[in-house]
Amino acid sequence: MQPQIILLKEGTEASQGRSQIISNINACQAIVDCVRTTLGPRGMDKLMVEAQGKATISNDGATIMKLLDVVHPAAKTLVDIAKSQDAEVGDGTTSVVILAGEFLKQMKPFVEEGVHSQIIIRGVRKATQLAVQFINEIAVKPKKDDEVELRQLLEKCAATAMGSKLINQQKDFFSRMVVDAVMMLDELLPLNMIGIKKVPGGALEDTLLVAGVAFKKTFSYAGFEMQPKQYTSPKIALLNIELELKAERDNAEIRLENVEEYQKVVDAEWTILYDKLEKLHLSGAKVVLSKLPIGDVATQYFADRDMFCAGRVPEEDLKRTMKACGGSILTTVADLEDSVLGTCEHFEEKQIGGDRFNIFTGCPQAKTCTIIIRGGAEQFMEETERSLHDAIMIVRRAKKNDAVVAGGGAIEMELSKHLRDISRTIAGKEQMLISAIARALEVIPRQLCDNAGFDSTNILNKLRQKHAQGNRWMGVDILNEDVADNMEKCVWEPSLVKINALSAASEATCLILSVDETIKNPKSGEGPAPQGRPGARRPF
Ligand code: ADP
Ligand code: MG
Repeated sequence: MQPQIILLKEGTEASQGRSQIISNINACQAIVDCVRTTLGPRGMDKLMVEAQGKATISNDGATIMKLLDVVHPAAKTLVDIAKSQDAEVGDGTTSVVILAGEFLKQMKPFVEEGVHSQIIIRGVRKATQLAVQFINEIAVKPKKDDEVELRQLLEKCAATAMGSKLINQQKDFFSRMVVDAVMMLDELLPLNMIGIKKVPGGALEDTLLVAGVAFKKTFSYAGFEMQPKQYTSPKIALLNIELELKAERDNAEIRLENVEEYQKVVDAEWTILYDKLEKLHLSGAKVVLSKLPIGDVATQYFADRDMFCAGRVPEEDLKRTMKACGGSILTTVADLEDSVLGTCEHFEEKQIGGDRFNIFTGCPQAKTCTIIIRGGAEQFMEETERSLHDAIMIVRRAKKNDAVVAGGGAIEMELSKHLRDISRTIAGKEQMLISAIARALEVIPRQLCDNAGFDSTNILNKLRQKHAQGNRWMGVDILNEDVADNMEKCVWEPSLVKINALSAASEATCLILSVDETIKNPKSGEGPAPQGRPGARRPF
């Protein structure tokens, strides 16, 4: 009898070999099936309910993948590529997952037939490299120095990114706004200088763009009505100081003999507070913002002296105000010089919907803007924010790197044709692999058709024929159930989105194909109870 050699801890699961690769591919397929239907302008949305009961409605691949809470170790790779696509370029998150799934599906027969993983991986890498090269060759670069043309290009890219979202009815309105917002930023186009706020109520078209910092006033004390609500070129003090009487809350024990001593304690506190307030007043600051509460005494004090104040300002808003208006966030009022105070051209407190907003415009230091989204349901506004984020990312990308390709499956069909042509010149297994990738690329137009309820076989045949005749930018025409030149129809996408999606999908495919063994350790303390072993002690 052969002695059994046990190397790993009891309860360890290990599976390996070809069947392991196949099972990983199947797991990925299940994930792809979840997001498949959200692709494109006619894609459906998903309603996701988290453990705490919070509901999210989204069409964004990355958001859906994040909320799916995938536990399968290999399928998690797909979640990662969706996230990285979101961080890297911001759009194309559904496409990347669908592409990776289709690559895997096309490679499955090769694995089943026993082609070695390394050969398949080499084939996939080669095909991707050829495809990326080809995108760079054929991408169209509109002239950059022409302001009008650049603006048109940006607006079209933004409109394409939003065409597949809930807000596609208002995409013209929003694409203009998004381009305006990005144009307001400086050279580096920092994303955090575009603030997005949501105010329930009103119509989606009431959404407005403020050329500066704007944030909600969270809390007001008595006396606030008497404060002025508008200033021109005020000095702004940004504080991290509590301006409130607070001794009652402190947990100190003081022994007092008589009433006079008690009065002294109270007086001392008032003196400290008044001292701070006086310093602020003397510094010439007209607007006082603090991260911490500003109490009613302080509010009244400022109101009497023609000053405005707001407490409990969220940290990110305070930081953005600091970046835009200059100055620094102070933790003491000891030396309030002009160099630590910010300023702006115009300050105003304004009613928007049910909320009061503090608005700073004409900021001297940094260029910044704020989009205030209006709308009905909370989930709707959240999805609007995500869609705007996609569009903003795309416009930033397109502004930095202005090459575009036609969307709606056009670029995928062209790549597919290109790869098929090349594969004919290669002998051996690689030919099969490259033409399999060529077939996989057709998944994007096919899915666009399926989601719109079109006859995908018919349209794909037409597309293949058109591309064979050299019509490079023919893609799916979503409006007329037909094919159309999507470059003319202005369905444009930055070539970077496509390049990134292709490379990420191919990386994920190679990663999953190269894993031939999964070893799962039991969590400490919860391995299966050693049943049936004579003499083994039970854990209790
Ligand atoms: P992703 O998260 O991958 O961006 P989307 O749901 O935004 O997914 O769908 C993007 C796909 O829809 C792209 O392939 C794009 O080319 C295509 N698309 C967008 N607008 C149109 C349109 N008007 N006509 C045809 N296809 C479009
Ligand atoms: Mg998109």
